[in-house]
Amino acid sequence: MVNKSEADLLHLDIMDGVFVPNLTFGFPVIRQIKSVSKKPLDVHLMIIEPDRYLEAYRDAGADWLTVHYETCPHLHRTIQKIRELGMKPAVSLNPHTDVSLLEPVLKDLNMVLVMTVNPGFGGQKFIEGSWDKIRKLKKMIQDSGAETLIQVDGGVTEDNISDLIKAGVDVFVVGNTIFSSNNPIQVTANLKNPA
Ligand code: ZN
Repeated sequence: MVNKSEADLLHLDIMDGVFVPNLTFGFPVIRQIKSVSKKPLDVHLMIIEPDRYLEAYRDAGADWLTVHYETCPHLHRTIQKIRELGMKPAVSLNPHTDVSLLEPVLKDLNMVLVMTVNPGFGGQKFIEGSWDKIRKLKKMIQDSGAETLIQVDGGVTEDNISDLIKAGVDVFVVGNTIFSSNNPIQVTANLKNPA
């Protein structure tokens, strides 16, 4: 179904039960998904010490790899390593983490993921404070001349996607809105072509 949809990427949420209060899946499942997916895999690591596993995620099939700012004491090194391994590096920020912290590494990133819910569970409501954060990040990217994409994850619906595009978001992670609908392919098409 995902292969037949208009989605550009397949986003995988990896949770370790430590950084976030939930567990999802690991390498064997990613490898299986990779073997059937026609979409590039966008792997979002919600795990502590991601540096220990960067190569393993590449080998499992990750095309894009997102680490959390809050888990990376040597963020610049981590980003370089992801790129050296042939993946597109992205960094995610929890709702409380200020976007200005990414200014020194903005040009090294393909994408910044702004968490618009607290990471750990699907089906949560969009945090309204995210609007200012997205606008501030968009301005930072434009001022720096970087081509970094802005991605949001959490609470995206057919009702707010147009405003999010206007605020500067480029890439949308949508779980519940698509997968809880009766027609996921149609909803994906609607989200890709909002009114
Ligand atoms: Zn995610």
